[in-house]
Amino acid sequence: MLQKETINFKCKLHIDENIEFCCLKRDCKEERLVCFQCLKTTEHLQHMIEVGKLEQAQLTINGELRKLKEAITTSKNIFNEVQNLFKNLIKGLEDRVFGIEATINLMGQSEFQDTLSSALTFERVQFSIQQSIEPQISKLKKTIEEVYQNCQLNIFTKKDEQTLVEIGNYLIKQQVYQDAIKYYDECLNMNSQNEEALFGKAECLRVTQKFNLAIEFYQKVQSINQSNPQVYIQQGLEQLIFQESAYDIYINSRVQLFVTIKLQKQNKTDFKSIYLKGYCLQAISNFKQARECFNQIIQAGSDEIYTLLAKSMLLTQQLELDKATQILDEILVNSPFNYNALCVKIECLISLENYQEALITCETMIQRYPKDIRVFFYKGALLTQLQDFAEANKLVEELKEIDETLWMIQFFKALFLLQEDKIDQSLELFDSIMAINPQNVSVLKQKVLALILNQNDPEQTTKFYDELYSKQQFDQLPLILKGECLFLSKKFEEAISTFNIILSQDPDFCQMQILKVQCLMELKKYQEVMDFCDKMLDVYEENEIFKEIKNQALEKIENGDEQVEKEEVEQQEIEDNFDIITEVQIN
Ligand SMILES: [Zn+2]
Ligand SMILES: [Zn+2]
Repeated sequence: MLQKETINFKCKLHIDENIEFCCLKRDCKEERLVCFQCLKTTEHLQHMIEVGKLEQAQLTINGELRKLKEAITTSKNIFNEVQNLFKNLIKGLEDRVFGIEATINLMGQSEFQDTLSSALTFERVQFSIQQSIEPQISKLKKTIEEVYQNCQLNIFTKKDEQTLVEIGNYLIKQQVYQDAIKYYDECLNMNSQNEEALFGKAECLRVTQKFNLAIEFYQKVQSINQSNPQVYIQQGLEQLIFQESAYDIYINSRVQLFVTIKLQKQNKTDFKSIYLKGYCLQAISNFKQARECFNQIIQAGSDEIYTLLAKSMLLTQQLELDKATQILDEILVNSPFNYNALCVKIECLISLENYQEALITCETMIQRYPKDIRVFFYKGALLTQLQDFAEANKLVEELKEIDETLWMIQFFKALFLLQEDKIDQSLELFDSIMAINPQNVSVLKQKVLALILNQNDPEQTTKFYDELYSKQQFDQLPLILKGECLFLSKKFEEAISTFNIILSQDPDFCQMQILKVQCLMELKKYQEVMDFCDKMLDVYEENEIFKEIKNQALEKIENGDEQVEKEEVEQQEIEDNFDIITEVQIN
């Protein structure tokens, strides 16, 4: 952790000599770092057994640090133990007091007598707390203060702005963001304009997905240093590359857009940024602009990985998930831990309902990115889907360790409630998350599913779309959700007109075309389906879905099935439709 490449110090007395030795004797008063010349003239000669090579010094520091870490753990444990003891004591006393006060007027004679007897012992309780606990605690207080005072000279770091920022940056690399924020805050208390601290705090907030706050801090950095905000953004990106998670949000992607768009202005051939921008745009359902990004990469003939990623993303837009997965596997053969490829692969596998393999891929990611919040997101969603609540709860506990206030913790609770059919309660939770961050697209999509499940109150759903639409924050998303909802409610004519509005704004929106042709299929307009599929297959030559639908329509026409349909078959089709919709939720 603290290793430098090599330590190289010069002797202060002998300019040509390097420091070669260090004395590790605990009570030695001499200069500890010496050159060979110095060594011969010092007290160290008396205890050469405790003199080591210079490299030894660093190992020693690390070893001694471990002792402090153990001291921290011990202190925390003692603290928790004592705290729990007091909590129990206080709770017990309160139970007694409130219990008597609340029931004293309702007591029968014998109960009243018992109460009186026990009340006469309360003095003893008061006495033992005052006479034995209080003095011992004040003694303990003194001891702790003494330990603190005695240690201060030796172990407490000087706390200037620069040191605090460096500690914060170090903790970010250790992925302990809550602790990092404490140090940035301490620095900001000294100087509220410290750019590095502001930036570090913004990074912590972004990584722990407090996007609105994160934006505030990024903007503070920008307002202080308008001349060169990119420097900080670039630095941030490097830190993120270190974590291999340059975008950790497939949910609220706006902060990331904020970063990537800035970067793109700098460099048009920065394929990573272009890819991330496209990915984020697709995550917030802006498929058209996302497509432009991916095509830009492919046309520029970027380095192979980003071209393959862009191609696979275009295939996901066409719901060609098997083909997309194959391309991703090409990347993963050579770079088995490629973060972007693994993420998209998991999303494809989830859409394909191949939950087991998705889970295996998650585990691969966790090996390499053990605290990556997005992997947690995927895994939690998968475990809920598989109804493995024990494991899902474990995951929630792990998330709490990273940051108790992560929105995802509430999100998973809401999903659990949904699985238990407690729809109202889960809707409440979704709302409480969105109250904090109204732009959380994952919650939004999940809320729509919950609303659809909540068939008792269809007006609630309509109202929701109208509100969403009037806010104009999500581009086409409200319309897409509305169309999907109409589709699921079997209102196919209305669904088609909604899809037509979307397609008039983005004629190449493949997923909407697929949904539209599904509607035509439901309406038994088989000839129209055939024509539509032919038109689509001119554009997407190999698209399996259009081929499949076309074959189905052809079969219907050949069988003369235009009119007669069995109820059962229709039901099956509705279920198939639901699958298509849930697939759409993923991107
Ligand atoms: Zn010397
Ligand atoms: Zn010595």
